[in-house]
This record gives sequence, structure tokens and C-alpha cells, in this order.
Amino acid sequence: MWKFTAPGIKSRKREKYERVKKLMWIKCNACGKLVYYKDYKTNLYICPKCGHAFSMTPKQRFDLLFDDNNWNILTLPVASDDPLNFNDRISYKERLAEAREETGRMDALTAADGKIGGIDATIAVMNPDFMLGSMGRSVGDGIIASIEHAIEKQYPYIMITTSGGARMQENILSLMQMARTTAAVNKLHAAKLPYIVILADPTFGGVTASFAMLGDIHIAESGARIGFAGKRVIEQNLREKLPSNFQTADYMYDHGMVDLVSERKELKGKLESILRVITKQPVDELTPILIQTPKLASQTKSKSKSVPSGAYEKVLLARNENRPHFLDYINGLTTDWTPLAGDRLFGEDPAMQGGLCYFRGIPAVIIGQEKGRDISTRQKYRFGMPVPEGYRKAQRLMKLAEKFNLPLISLFDTSGAFAGREGEERGQSQAVATSIATGLSIATPYIAVNVGEGSSGGAIAIATGDRVLMMENAIYSVIAPESCASILWRDNKFKAQAAEAMKLTARDLAEVGVIDEIIKEPGKGAHTNWQTTMELLAASVVKHIKELQEIPVEELPRKRTEKFFAMTRDVEIYQPENEDIEQ
Ligand SMILES: [Zn+2]
Repeated sequence: MWKFTAPGIKSRKREKYERVKKLMWIKCNACGKLVYYKDYKTNLYICPKCGHAFSMTPKQRFDLLFDDNNWNILTLPVASDDPLNFNDRISYKERLAEAREETGRMDALTAADGKIGGIDATIAVMNPDFMLGSMGRSVGDGIIASIEHAIEKQYPYIMITTSGGARMQENILSLMQMARTTAAVNKLHAAKLPYIVILADPTFGGVTASFAMLGDIHIAESGARIGFAGKRVIEQNLREKLPSNFQTADYMYDHGMVDLVSERKELKGKLESILRVITKQPVDELTPILIQTPKLASQTKSKSKSVPSGAYEKVLLARNENRPHFLDYINGLTTDWTPLAGDRLFGEDPAMQGGLCYFRGIPAVIIGQEKGRDISTRQKYRFGMPVPEGYRKAQRLMKLAEKFNLPLISLFDTSGAFAGREGEERGQSQAVATSIATGLSIATPYIAVNVGEGSSGGAIAIATGDRVLMMENAIYSVIAPESCASILWRDNKFKAQAAEAMKLTARDLAEVGVIDEIIKEPGKGAHTNWQTTMELLAASVVKHIKELQEIPVEELPRKRTEKFFAMTRDVEIYQPENEDIEQ
């Protein structure tokens, strides 16, 4: 049975505390320095001396994220107190009374409606000052009720977590909240509403292990500690010291659990960008962005004379280091770009990039390999050769595109998936295979563009689109021509012959029906004029998205399957010498 209680309890003690606090200098318990309270408040409760981000009350969170400090608190159910009649050093009833007095709230969850960048949304906040934000029946009931409210209103739902985990004083009843809140999140996903989790310091235990890790997008507040078990407990178990960054926001990012780490002051802006794209807010018609073709020192014009003509020349053009790469296209063609990170399983792979954006004004999910350009960025992006985490991130973004019915654009450009021991151990083949399968099955428009090198399984993993386009000087093959020459000619100096024989140019591939369209490149190639290259690519992609958006989404997976079934069937026409061979 729900018991409804007015959300704000008057607390004289708290009012006095607030009054005194506003006049006072406070001592930062991170750096020990004295800070003027007003400075601390205007700095969003971050110590101006050391940068430590302190916890915020629900009210402060609502003011931070909702437009114009304007929001309406929701009346949430409150479960009966102390169902187990629990006593430790003091009774649970006394602890509750103390927490209520201290916070002016009935329990650790507060929710409100308001606008974020003009978009209606519901935000739920866990209050770290209420018994460490622990989750008992009231928190569970509050999450269920606020999610059901968001579904009824069709609002995006944003959850800000700060919690030590389940509430011991409610024992098994608190454990059950992990299942109950997860069931509520499942309903939110089934209703195709955005669910964004902001993980604040600290988020642990049963909260992390349920609704906090099930968002469409996870944003960790900079400096937050996030984990399942506490660091000290793990250190005691292992009898070893863990690294100082263990379980920090950045650590969780590196381990694939969060999409982005955000400073507190940037949270609202980032949230607005994300919500704009996933709720498909219309944007003004875009004037083309001016894109400079970079003059890079290593531009080697003379080389083009010494390379063999024909297919191998295309191989070199496709690999030209000054061709625009994934992030160049992002800079040139998108707005509201939010890069999303992590496979939610093991790690973040920068070789596979992806995120939300407006692509020439169309809200979309975009993925692709980034190769890097100089020594340091090439190493950072592992030369555009993803590991399993990269492919699993791509799958996650494919499903995100499907959930919000956003077109998926893949700009593939790779010499292949990374060949290495760790990749094998973590299922490189499985990751590529599942990416192919996911791409074929998503019910949303999917455009794949070969923007440079499309090599091997690492490329087809993100190339099973409704439309597959190819830049004029890109190449697409099952193996690099050098490797093919080494294996079949037993000498890689036959690479040009191999390239010719392999039929890997855009024209060859259009002829065998593997690609649907060739995108022209300006002058001597994409590397000579980025502006024109990007305009041509954008025009083609936009045209195909618009065509695909005319088709009911549920028909797309079937049509895509038929397209790939038909592919390669009639290719023997291309090689008439095969006609005499008995089948
Ligand atoms: Zn400080």
C-alpha cells in the first residue's frame, strides 16, 4: 500500500543550519582550506581551492539541470517505516527521524518535472545526505512511481545516483528493490523513452548493480567514485593496494562502463545536446560549414608519379594519410556531436568512434573507425583497427539508433580488425560476427559508407547497411593486396598485380553489385579538397536517408536481408571464363 505524504517537511533545524551556513566560511574536507560559502555555491559546490566536487541536494541538482530554476516536485509514495523493526546501535526508526530532520525529505529519492533545453523531462535524484542515499522500499517505490509518471507523460527520464547501495536496515526487502527498479527500467526501455543516468559520487553496491548501469547513456560526474564493492573491501580481500584512480569516473570510462565523463558545470549542456538529438528536435537548415583542407608537411605529391597506375594507385589514394578521416567528417558535417564510449563489458576502444549528432540537420547515430594522422594519434586510435570492445560498442550504438528510430550512419575505414592475443581472448571473431548480425537486424535506416579502406571482417562488421556507398578512391577487399601477393605470388612486390586481380576499386565493386553508389571525389582525390569531398558525401548520405525514411522501419530488416541474399549471386557474369567450369 502506498502512503502519500507531502514531499517537503518543514525542518526548523535545517532552516537554521542553512541560514548559518550561508554566512559562514566552510572548511573543505578534501584540501582542508577555508572557503567562503558563497564562492563555494557559485562554483556549483565544487571547492574553488582544490576542485573537489561535493555532493548536492536534490534541490541543487534540479536548479542545476532544469531551465530557469523552474521545476515541479513530484509527490512520491512513501512506504511504511521500519518493516523489520530493526535495531543496531540505534533503531532504524531513530535513524529515519534523524535523516528526515537533517534533509527535510521523507526518504532518499526525490523527483521533479521541468524543462531541459526546452524539452520536458523527469529527473530523479538520490540524496546522499539521507542515510547515504541507500535504497530501501521507499526509494524503490519512488523510482517505480517516477518512471511510471515519465511513461505516462512520455518524458525522457534522468536519474542522478549517489548511493552507498542497498539499505541494510531493510535487509531482504531492500535487496528486492534491485529487481523492482530494474523491472521499472525495462518498462521505460519498452516505451522507447530515453533513460539517462548521471553517476555522481559515490555510486555503489545494489544501486550500481541495478538501475544505475542500465541507461541508454551513462554520464559520470568528474571525480565520482563508482563501483560494486568498496575499494577497502577489495583491498582487504586481495591483500594488495589498488591504484589511486581505481573506481574513479575516468577509470570506469576506460573500462567501458560510462559514455562520458563530465564536469559538473558542463552537465546541463551535454544533457541538452543528447536530448535534442534523441528526441529529434528540429534544427534550422544548415549552411555548409567551411572546411579547410589541411596543408600537412608530409603531403607527398611527387609520390603519385612513381606509383603504378590503376588499382594499386587507388590503394595508395585510399590510404593517403591526408584523406579526411572519421573525426574530420564529424567536424565538417555534424553539430551537437556527443561521442559515446564503452562496450559496457570491458573497455573503451578509441579505434571505433561513435555517437549522437545532427548529420546535416538530421538527428542520427554515427559510427566508424578513426585511423589517426600523426604518430601520437595513430597510436591513440590504434591505426583504426578495432579490438572486440570497439565492435561491441558499435553494436550498442546500433541498438541505440534502433531504439530511438534514428538513422545509423557508418563511415568505415580500416585495414582490418586488430590482430592480437587479447583480442582473440576476448572474442574478436564473436564481436565482428555479432556486429554483422546486429547491423542486419536493426529496424532503422542504415547507411554504410566506405570512406577509405574497407578491409576484411573489420570492415564488413559495420558495413551491412540498407545502402552501401563508396568513395571514388576507396578500396574494398577481403585482404590487403600486399598480403594477397605474399601468399599467392609468394612475394609482396607483386602487390600491384594482386590489386588489379582482386577487383577492389569502387568501379569494380559497383559492377559486381556489392555497393549501391560511388561518391565522386574532387580533383586528384579527397585529400586535395576536404570541403568538396564532404559536401559530396553529405549530399549522397542525406539523399539515401530520406529515401529510407519513406519505408516503414519494420520492413527494413527484411529488405536488408533480401539485399544481402541477392548479392554475389549473379557475379559469374563478371568472369565469363568460368562458364565452362562444371558445377
Ligand atoms: Zn578543497
